[in-house]
Formats: sequence, structure tokens, C-alpha cells
Amino acid sequence: MRLSRYFLPVMKESPAEAQIVSHKLMLRAGLVRQQAAGIYAWLPLGTRVLHKIAQIVREEQDRAGAIELLMPTLQSADLWRESGRYDAYGPEMLRITDRHDREILYGPTNEEMITAIFRDAARSYRDLPRTLYHIQWKFRDEVRPRFGVMRGREFLMKDAYSFDLDEQGARHSYNRMFVAYLRTYARMGLRAIPMQADTGPIGGDLSHEFIVLAPTGESEVFYHKAWEQDRSLDVDADDAAALQAFVGGLTADYAATDEKRDEGREREAGEALRTSRGIEVGHIFYFGTKYSAAMGLKVQGPDGSDVVPQMGSYGIGVSRLMGAIIEASHDDKGIIWPEAVAPFKVGLINMRADDAACAAAADDLYQKLSDAGVEVLYDDRDERGGAKFATMDLIGLPWQIVIGPKGLANGVVELKRRATGEREELSAEAALAKVAGR
Ligand code: ATP
Ligand code: MG
Repeated sequence: MRLSRYFLPVMKESPAEAQIVSHKLMLRAGLVRQQAAGIYAWLPLGTRVLHKIAQIVREEQDRAGAIELLMPTLQSADLWRESGRYDAYGPEMLRITDRHDREILYGPTNEEMITAIFRDAARSYRDLPRTLYHIQWKFRDEVRPRFGVMRGREFLMKDAYSFDLDEQGARHSYNRMFVAYLRTYARMGLRAIPMQADTGPIGGDLSHEFIVLAPTGESEVFYHKAWEQDRSLDVDADDAAALQAFVGGLTADYAATDEKRDEGREREAGEALRTSRGIEVGHIFYFGTKYSAAMGLKVQGPDGSDVVPQMGSYGIGVSRLMGAIIEASHDDKGIIWPEAVAPFKVGLINMRADDAACAAAADDLYQKLSDAGVEVLYDDRDERGGAKFATMDLIGLPWQIVIGPKGLANGVVELKRRATGEREELSAEAALAKVAGR
């Protein structure tokens, strides 16, 4: 992509309305623009990152055996009356009346809808187990939308729902998601700690929140220092017993949110107990037959009698993750994208757009990078070098390649790693091989 033809409105100054660094950087780097309180337009650069985050989430869901579908954002109020949640949900639900005076709502979550869809189709135990998921916009009329996309009113969520024949199966589905979540966050360069959590209005008795440590996080959390190290996630998720033992082993180390603190376990942790603030990037629940029983979902069991499926639900805050990644990875110059979610892999800077030799060399390398399948943002604008460097550092692409007249005379370009600031001079061919080879 040539920057001269792109749409990247960056801001020099820190916007006054933003309190935390990720919000400031998302506005400054031209990722999002607020349209109303807690409602954002995703600009081209932000859209690319959002899609990359969603794709990692999707791949790990698929790997865990979950099946993707897509449910609508709008739902009928009657569906929610079946579970009793239409009245219970409160003012966070955006309720709308259509032209025929029918009550609809913008979905804050999808337990009711997926239960109805499954109820209409599932007949026997052979239709179980299944886990279905979608990646779809949600609306919650939060009292205090803040921190940009961290606590929006409209936000993108991955929500999955599992249906099992019995409790043992449901726990296996839960454990699968547990590990899939840890893998998902690790791929984005994040360490998220699973913490014992309250089940809240979704109900049920087993629940974990996945928390990324950050001083700006909204939750206060307590954990054993063992969680500060990376954990191996190497386990065969098809083997229910092995998986249960693996998850049990992980959760043997204490970690809990404020609502679920356990004095006994904290005393046990002793000196190793840590406290911090954190960002909730996911939340998983096992809630048994809460929705299936209320909504009349049943299938024929192996012995011919009716079975009410056991369910769980599993959310990941896809749009919130972008804020969390930036909180975890930035410096005073801007964002430092982990390669897996970077909007482009390389920023190519032509220092002197008015110099024919520089322009020819930069155009040529741009073409070669593109041909090699490398996602490259080419700053071909007629701007000062200093402004170009500042923009590249702000938007945080993992690699920068700088072409200038001096280097060119010596047959070299400069390759810079954004994360470390490390620079080296090498031929354009060698730079190409290096960024394309990784
Ligand atoms: P919170 O405690 O932060 O309000 P929640 O418990 O209401 O979240 P869930 O219903 O578990 O959230 O939703 C699943 C995930 O969706 C959360 O873990 C979070 O990452 C994300 N999420 C929830 N609310 C918002 C929001 N207002 N803006 C952005 N992401 C959100
Ligand atoms: Mg929660």
C-alpha cells in the first residue's frame, strides 16, 4: 500500500479525551474515531488489526473443534422472554421498537438465540457434543463507556456455546476452550491469566476470567507469582483425562479476581502472592441446563429417554484485545505491534521522494516486497524524513526499511526493528530476504 493513496489520519498531539495510553495511541495512530459515546468507527489501519485479531481467535476456535456460524445483531424480545432474561437484563440492553411495534433488541450476548437454533435442529445424542461460535458485534449500554474500545457500548466479541450430553462432557468442552484461550492470547504476544471468577447474570457454577496484567486495567486481581512465567500449552485436547489433569495443574497456582478471593489460598501463597490490576480479555462459563431447561431444549439419549443438554458459553473481547495489546506493547514513540497482529509487516520509507534514484530504488523494493507476499506500507509521500520516521514509529509496524541518497550511493538500505530500535545496513536484496523469510 502506498501511503500517498492510503487513508491514515494520524494526530500529532495527544487527544484530550483519552486517559489511558492505548486509547491515546489508537486515536493518534489513526486506528479508530469515536462516533458517539462508546461507539467507534474503525479506520483502515484499525480494521486490518481487528481482522488479524479475529482471525487468530477463529483459527484457535476451529482448532478446538468449535464450528463457526453467524447470528444477527438484532434479536426478538420474545426469544429473551423464554429464558426470563428480557426483564432481568436491565438498562444495559438496548431495546428497540420496529415499525410494526414489535420489540427487538441489539444483542448483548447470544445464549437464547443459540439455544433456540440448536433446539430446532438437535434430535438425538448423536447431535452432541457440539460447540458453535460466531464473531459478531454486541451492544451493551454501559453506564460509563470509557478507555476507548476497552469499554465500548458497541464492541466485537467472539462468543461460543457448547452443548453436551452430561456434566463430564461439558467439563471437557470447557477445558478445551480454556486451553484454546491461552493459545489465542499467546499468539498475540499476550500473557493472560485464567482467574476464578463470579458467574454473574449468565449463571452457573464454574467460570474463569482471562486477565492481562496492566496498571490501567479495571479489575483488581490476586495471583501466585508462578503466573509471571510462560506456561507450556502442549497437551492433547482430545484426551479428556489428560486435559482435565493439565487444566487442574495450571489452576493449582492461585489466581482470582476481587470477587473471588480465597483467604486460605492466599495465606498458602504467602510471599509469592502478587496483586495487580488487569484487563479482562475473555470469560468462560459452565452453567449446566440453565438455558436448555428454561427453553425446552432436549434430545433423545442413548437409552431412548430425554436428555436436557449441558451448556457453557465462552466470550473473547476481540475489539477490547486491541487496546490490551497496545497497553502491553508500546513505548513513548508509539505502538509496537506484535508481528501476528500488525496491520502491515514492513514500513518502507523513501527519505527523498524528490530524488529520482531514491524513488526508483524504493519503488523497486516495494514491488519486490509485494511480490513476495509481504504486507508493506510504503511511505512515498513528499514529506520530511523526520515526519516519516515519527509516523512509522507511531503506527508501530514490526520492521522499517529506510532508503536514502547516502546509503543508496553505497548500495545499502537501513533495516530497523521497531521493538528494539536495532538498525543494520544491508543491501536491498538482503533486507528483502530478511523480512520475507521470517
Ligand atoms: P466486564 O466485566 O468487563 O463488563 P463482562 O463480564 O460483562 O465484562 P462478558 O459478558 O463475559 O463480559 O463478555 C465477554 C468478553 O467481552 C469480556 O471478557 C470482555 O473481554 C468483552 N467485553 C465485555 N464488555 C465489553 C465492553 N463494554 N467493551 C468491550 N469489550 C467488552
Ligand atoms: Mg466478566
